[in-house]
Amino acid sequence: MKEQSHIKRIAIFGSTGSIGTQALEVIAAHNDQFSAEILTANTNADLLIQQALEFQPNIVVIGDEKKYTAVKDALASTDTKVFAGQSALEEVAAMDCYDLMLAAIVGYAGLKPTLKAIETGKIIALANKETLVVAGDIIMRKAVEYKVPIIPVDSEHSAIFQCLVGETRNKIEKIILTASGGPFIGRKPNYLVNVKREHALQHPNWNMGVKISIDSATLMNKGLEMIEAKWLFNLSPQQVEVVIHPQSIIHSMVQFEDGSVKAQLGLPDMKLPIQYALAFPKRIKNDFPRMDFNKINTLTFEEPDVKTFRNLMLAWEALNKSGNMPCIMNAANEIAVYAFLRNRINFLDMTDVIEQTMATVPFIEQPTLEEYFESDGEARNFAADLIKL
Ligand code: NDP
Repeated sequence: MKEQSHIKRIAIFGSTGSIGTQALEVIAAHNDQFSAEILTANTNADLLIQQALEFQPNIVVIGDEKKYTAVKDALASTDTKVFAGQSALEEVAAMDCYDLMLAAIVGYAGLKPTLKAIETGKIIALANKETLVVAGDIIMRKAVEYKVPIIPVDSEHSAIFQCLVGETRNKIEKIILTASGGPFIGRKPNYLVNVKREHALQHPNWNMGVKISIDSATLMNKGLEMIEAKWLFNLSPQQVEVVIHPQSIIHSMVQFEDGSVKAQLGLPDMKLPIQYALAFPKRIKNDFPRMDFNKINTLTFEEPDVKTFRNLMLAWEALNKSGNMPCIMNAANEIAVYAFLRNRINFLDMTDVIEQTMATVPFIEQPTLEEYFESDGEARNFAADLIKL
């Protein structure tokens, strides 16, 4: 463990992903302020080993137990302790060797380690939006109980969070989440039915992991973000609005009850919200590219086409219904996205799978944590049966 007490000790859960690798760039650039104490991966042992050799963390976890020996052997000459398996993620999340967890595992798999980090009083920098979509009520309740700050990393929620600094006494009328519209903006179902995985992964503004790239193409990402925003900022569904803003310069906005609107702007670069979350409440000088307003000719806004991108309507329904419905939607979406990525279903089928799963898995108005886990499992099984996975 590093000795200096002014250094914030970071655990990156999902260090080999798009968010995780960018977070390590931030840490490397500011090693007088941050140290990487825990790094975790699922299957990418090679990159985890490389990261461990460079950052010399206290602990690494490899989710895939078959890769334990390879990681252990590669790090035998270092002080880094090696753990393996899904339960090790929770075990390690509860340890005292770090101050802040960057929750950057993708999907439902991020929920349990994040919960454990909250229950042991760690600050949470939250990239994993699925955690709040699945069990937002329990997560936010626990965060209050354990006095744990949850600092959003998602660029839209980071924008709103930044707009709200200094506004604790002022009422929010609504928030406006901006959406780039993804690679298929303006396209209609007759085009979308034929798009392939390669097209859908080509996001115009952001370079992200595969799951969120597909979610952005279907607009499910914005649906997940609406639910994430409700929990993070304690809003009613009516206070959450989405506007398409293809340039991804305005990252989101808050309208207060006097009608004034605050926005946060920046170039589309996830390193900025990552750094903000790691350093909060400080801002740190960096050398990221700056915006040049003389070169930005237009910022445009339009309504989302919810007739074509029906996932946004499904997410709206789940947000309104609440209970276990967002959890069911999320589980069906994860199954549908991975089936699409494996060319098992077409782009539009994803929405049908989610819709049918939401219509079938029993609704629970106030689920316990156990019931969330059960709903997730039921929804996954139902969606997988539909697709015949
Ligand atoms: P990636 O797919 O690039 O990375 C995911 C990370 O999670 C990898 O380290 C991966 O390990 C690990 N992982 C995957 N499955 C498991 C599992 N079952 N158990 C343990 N670890 C697992 O995702 P992103 O970085 O793009 O996204 C991470 C989260 O951040 C998502 O929730 C996403 O919605 C959110 N987010 C991402 C943004 C982005 O720009 N990428 C922007 C805003 C939010 P391995 O490499 O070994 O597979």
